[in-house]
Amino acid sequence: LELQLRQAQKMESLGTLAGGIAHDFNNIIAIVKGYTEFCLGRTEDASLQRYLTEIHKASHRAVGLVRQILTFSRKAEVSTRPVDINALLNELGRLFSETFPRTIEFQFDLQKDLPSLMADPNQLQQVIMNLCVNARDAMGEGGRLRLSSKRVRGSQILDQQNIDPKRDYVCITIADNGHGMPPDVRARIFEPFFTTKMKKGGTGLGLSVVYGIVVNHQGALTVDSTPGKGTTFRAFFPIIETKKAGSSDAEGTSQPVP
Ligand code: ADP
Repeated sequence: LELQLRQAQKMESLGTLAGGIAHDFNNIIAIVKGYTEFCLGRTEDASLQRYLTEIHKASHRAVGLVRQILTFSRKAEVSTRPVDINALLNELGRLFSETFPRTIEFQFDLQKDLPSLMADPNQLQQVIMNLCVNARDAMGEGGRLRLSSKRVRGSQILDQQNIDPKRDYVCITIADNGHGMPPDVRARIFEPFFTTKMKKGGTGLGLSVVYGIVVNHQGALTVDSTPGKGTTFRAFFPIIETKKAGSSDAEGTSQPVP
C-alpha cells in the first residue's frame, strides 16, 4: 500500500508538471510541423525534400508522445460511456495482426455476451494498445499474443485497493510468451520514464499511462511475469449494472395478495 501511495503521489506531481510542459510543447511542435509542410510543398530539391520529410516524421512522433503525456496528466477529464469490449478487442486485434511482424501469432479468447463496461473509449484503446505494443517488443523472435476478456467477481481479484468485492468486473488479459522480466525490472515498470528500451526509443511512459487510466476508471491492473517464459497483464474495469425493467429481483417486490 505504501508503495502504491508513493507511486500515486509521484504520478500526481509528475502529471501536473508534464501537463504544463506538454501544452507548451504542443504549440511549438504545431509550428515546426506546419512550416515543414509549407516548405515541402514549395521545394523541388530532392535532398531537401528528404530532410524535410524526416523533420515532418519526427514532429509527428513528438505529437504522439505529447498526447501520451497529456493523457496521463489529465486525470479528471475521463468521459465514460458504455463500451463493447469484445468489439474493441476484435477491432484492435485486426489492426495489430496487420501491422505487427508476421512471426507473431494472435489468439483470441473472448467471453460471449459480456455486458458493456464503463470507460472512456479512447483511453481504453490506449490501454490495450500500449500493452500489445509492449508484448510485441518482448517477442523479438516472434511468439504468441493472447487477448482475452472475461467477467469476474470483485472478490476474486486479490490485493487491489480500488476493487469493490461486491461488484463485477471485466478482466482484459494481454499475455505474451516473450522474454519476461526479472524482479528488479518488474518492480519499476510503472514508474514514469522507466524503460529498458533506451536504445530503441522507449519513453517509459506506456505503462504509467496504462496504470493512470485503469486507476481513474476505478479499476485495477495486475502483472505476472516469468523471465524467459512471458508476461501477462490483466486490466479490470467495472461493469455497469443495468437492472432490467420489471425484473423479479428488484427491491420491494410485491407479495401475492391472498
Ligand atoms: P517503454 O515500453 O517505452 O519502455 P513502458 O512503461 O511501456 O515503457 O514499459 C516499461 C518497461 O517495462 C519496458 O521498458 C520493459 O522493460 C518492461 N515491460 C513492459 N511490458 C513488458 C512485457 N510484456 N514483457 C517484458 N517486459 C515488459
